[in-house]
Amino acid sequence: MFKDFFNLLFPITCSHCGQNLASNEDIICAYCLFQLPQTQYWLEAENKVAKKLWGRVRVEHCSSFLHFIKDGMVQHLLHQLKYKNGKEIGQKLGKIYATELKKVDALKSIDYIVPVPLFKGKEKKRGYNQSQMIAEGISDVLLKPVDNSHLIKKQQTSSQTNLNRWNRWQNQQEKFEINDSDFFQNKHILIVDDVITTGATIESCISLLNQIPNCTVSAVFIASAL
Ligand SMILES: [Zn+2]
Repeated sequence: MFKDFFNLLFPITCSHCGQNLASNEDIICAYCLFQLPQTQYWLEAENKVAKKLWGRVRVEHCSSFLHFIKDGMVQHLLHQLKYKNGKEIGQKLGKIYATELKKVDALKSIDYIVPVPLFKGKEKKRGYNQSQMIAEGISDVLLKPVDNSHLIKKQQTSSQTNLNRWNRWQNQQEKFEINDSDFFQNKHILIVDDVITTGATIESCISLLNQIPNCTVSAVFIASAL
């Protein structure tokens, strides 16, 4: 009752359209949820995101939930997730995606959900790692633990704009490390990130995990801009 009264005074609004949320809605209104441009990539093994990584790393399952369209609603939501303290948006999108991922056979065997790490300084400045928020949402639905202490980012990546693809890859490659690789041995890891564009970041994370004996890797993204 207190919550209802509170809502009356300070209505909670949809993170995308700004309309007041009904009592059975949270973070994003039903109308906006319905409008999300879903890829359905998780239903096909040979999807666009998986193909992006072909010949680069070994992955079991790889997919994105939404299409990233410039100036579209996904960009708006992800921008808030990253820069406007939109932790709940990350958790919410993670949860919705996970209800779909739950039906994917290849993901039934996952042991840990691992967010792509941020440089510690960046995480401190922002207050949180957006991929961690998405991973937590996925974890709530898949009921698998999040591990954020074994795949780590070493130092801030220097500006990459002047580097070609190979140098960019090398530059990224040097920025992640795995402490205690035994931890991931004989495990199926689900790596989580907000967006995939060139695939350079995820490639460097996965290529490290690919070196660990009997470590299976899958990767999911909230959005793909391919
Ligand atoms: Zn809305």
